[in-house]
Amino acid sequence: MSVIYDRVALIGLGLIAGSMAHAFRRDGLVKHITGTARSQETRDIAQEIGLCDTIVASAAEAVKDADLVVLAIPIGAMGSVAKAIAPHLKPGATVTDVGSVKQAVIKAVAPHIPDGVHFVPAHPMAGTEHSGPRSGFAELFDNRWCLLVPLEDTDATAVARLQSLWQAMGANVELMEAAHHDLVCAVTSHAPHLIAYTMVGVADDLRRVTDNEVIKFSAAGFRDFTRIAASDPTMWRDVFLNNKEATLEILGRFTEELFALQRAIRIGDGDFLHDYFTHTREIRRGIIDAGQDTDAPDFGRGTSR
Ligand code: NAP
Repeated sequence: MSVIYDRVALIGLGLIAGSMAHAFRRDGLVKHITGTARSQETRDIAQEIGLCDTIVASAAEAVKDADLVVLAIPIGAMGSVAKAIAPHLKPGATVTDVGSVKQAVIKAVAPHIPDGVHFVPAHPMAGTEHSGPRSGFAELFDNRWCLLVPLEDTDATAVARLQSLWQAMGANVELMEAAHHDLVCAVTSHAPHLIAYTMVGVADDLRRVTDNEVIKFSAAGFRDFTRIAASDPTMWRDVFLNNKEATLEILGRFTEELFALQRAIRIGDGDFLHDYFTHTREIRRGIIDAGQDTDAPDFGRGTSR
């Protein structure tokens, strides 16, 4: 594949930036990757595993000469980092981010972007429960969605170029408006994570009573909750604090549905439960048909249980 950006600066060297670096290398999409992270420890690990061509100590230093700057840090840190790099951005460069919430990031970052620099917010809808510089892998974005959320006046050429980068990394790209993005993600990702955190918290309470039986006998359902609930605490704290309204809206609807199911169980309304589960099974089929998950039993874990 051909080079899309000569020089890219990765600000933050965790799961998402690390996966981007691997994908850049796999597909020859970038000539030179400069990386930086907040701590010396992360920068040292990135150096040791050869994640970037150059590792520098600060974001301001990293963005000098960069054609593309990727903010791959927790949402709560985006504004202050954007402010710090602003005076050092190259005219004509593109700044993007990978934050899981878009309205709050745009509000925090856009005011710092100088004239002549393009800002194209983005959100790769791919991840794992792992974090840090060793957690990235080139295939993370293969056949996953990346949503681009350009502002009304964003330069169309800059958007198209970033779109071609994500597509070259294996992702499917769609353009979306910020408020709609935040609502879609509240349903598909943010509320489910909160529910998983809650369920694991409930089970942990119970464990004190049942003397480890929750862990010992945890079948796929609970195991999947524990996997999701192992996700990075800083990232998820920032997601909920910054996508407050959409998450609360979805949790309100969730509570109504939960009460309806609770009532059906209490009054023995088997038809209601059966119809409900039939409908949810169809949704799962739709996700598989769309290529967003595997049809393999137990997510392909096979006999490794
Ligand atoms: P991660 O693995 O935890 O890495 C975060 C990186 O940001 C680390 O290199 C960290 O440096 C750096 N950092 C943390 N606080 C900082 C600060 N105040 N200033 C500068 N750098 C800071 O995180 P990630 O999973 O890659 O997530 C990064 C972004 O991607 C988040 O905005 C998240 O919402 C978004 N995202 C995540 C996922 C997912 O599933 N993980 C999916 C899609 C989008 P140190 O290691 O030195 O602290």
